[in-house]
Amino acid sequence: MDLRRPSLSDFGVLDNEALRSVNQTIVLNVIREKQPISRADLARITRLKESTISSIAKRLIGEGLIYEANLGDSSGGRRPRMLRINGDRSAALGVHIAPQQTLIAASNFSGKILRQRTIKTDSDPERFLPRLAEEIERSLHSDLPAGLKCEGIGVSMPGLMDRSQGKIIYSANLDWREVEVGAYLRHRFGHDIMFEDNVRCAGLAEIWFGSLTRLAPSHMINLLIDEGLGTAIIIGGHLYRGATLGAGQFGHVSIDPSGPRCRCGNLGCWESFASNTATIHRYLQARGVSGAATSIPFSKLVALARESDRDALLALQKTGEYLGIGIALLVNGLNPEMVIVSGEISRAWDLIEPGIWHNLRIRALAGNLNSMKLQPSSIEENPSLMGAISLVICRRFALPPPGREGRRALTATRG
Ligand SMILES: [Zn+2]
Repeated sequence: MDLRRPSLSDFGVLDNEALRSVNQTIVLNVIREKQPISRADLARITRLKESTISSIAKRLIGEGLIYEANLGDSSGGRRPRMLRINGDRSAALGVHIAPQQTLIAASNFSGKILRQRTIKTDSDPERFLPRLAEEIERSLHSDLPAGLKCEGIGVSMPGLMDRSQGKIIYSANLDWREVEVGAYLRHRFGHDIMFEDNVRCAGLAEIWFGSLTRLAPSHMINLLIDEGLGTAIIIGGHLYRGATLGAGQFGHVSIDPSGPRCRCGNLGCWESFASNTATIHRYLQARGVSGAATSIPFSKLVALARESDRDALLALQKTGEYLGIGIALLVNGLNPEMVIVSGEISRAWDLIEPGIWHNLRIRALAGNLNSMKLQPSSIEENPSLMGAISLVICRRFALPPPGREGRRALTATRG
C-alpha cells in the first residue's frame, strides 16, 4: 500500500495529446523489452486496441524509432511482421570520469559502442576539463557514422554531486571539491548533458543493457566495487536518492569500530575492507610490500589468483567474506529481491561467492534471505560508462508529464 499522502499534483488530467504520448511511450517500452514482437502481441500485452497499436506503430516507424524486421510465426493466418527498435536512428556519447583514466564512448541507440577513447584523468580539474572537452569534441566529429545524430552526452562521475548542475561537491576518489564539471561542459557543448554518480550509473546499466532489461526487480541493490564501494538502491522501481541525494553510501558504514581509518574519517568502514583498494592492500601486506609505488592493478591480482598465487587467492577470498558481512546488512535492512555485484571483481565471482554466502547464511535473516537472488553483473566492461550512455537513451523511453499518471499506466500494463 502506498502510504504517501496524495498531493494535488497527483490528479493531473490527461488530454488526448498527452494520452497518445503516454501510450506511444508504453508501446515503445514493450517493444524494447519483448522485441521482436508482433502488433497482435503488443495489443495483448498493453491491452490497447489493435487499431490503436497499428496507428502508434505507423507513427513510430515514420519517426524512425522502430522498424519492421522479419516475419514471425503464424498463429493460423498470415505471418505477422515483427517490430524492433531502430538502434541506428541516432547516437549517444557516454563519459566516465574515474581516478586513473576517463573513458569517452560513442554508442548507437541500442548501447553498442562504436568507438571508445581513453585519456588520463588529471588530478587538477582546471587542467583536466579543457583536455576532456577537446576529446569529446574529437569524438563527436570523428566517432559517429555520417548522418547519425548525437542525442546527448551522459557523464558518470564518482562522489557526491549536484546532478542537475553536474557539480562535484566532494569526490574522495578524485580528491576534487566543488568542481563545476557541468557548467564547463555545457558552456562548451550546450545543455544536452546529463550527470549521475558512477554507482547509480552502474545500476542503470544493469537495467537498460544488462540481464535485467526484460525483467527488472522492483526492489534491488546494485553494489559497485572499484576504488571505493557504493550502492544504487532501487525501491518500488525507482532509484532512491535520499533527502539530499546522498543515499547509497553503505561503503562508509562502519563494520568494525577498531578497523582502519577510512578516507572519510570514520573507523572500519565497509569499503576499507572490501573495495579493490583494500583487496590490493591486503595482498601487498601478505607479500610484505607496502607503499603506493608498489601497487598492482586489480585485474593483475585476479590473474595471479587464477594462476594459484596463494596470497592473491586469500586476499580475494577475504574480500568475499567482507562483502558477505555488508550485504547481510543490506538484506536485513532493505529486504531486496536481488543484489547485483558490479565492477571488475564480478569477473572473480567463483572466487568470492563462497565467502559472501558463508557470511550471508550466518548474518542475514532467513526470511529476507531465502527468496533473494545474488548475482554478478552481466555488464562485463565498464558498467558506469554504459550507465552514462543509458542516461541519454532512457529519455526516449521515459514517460512524458504528468509523470505519475504515466507511471500508473505503465505499471498497469506490466501487470
Ligand atoms: Zn568511510
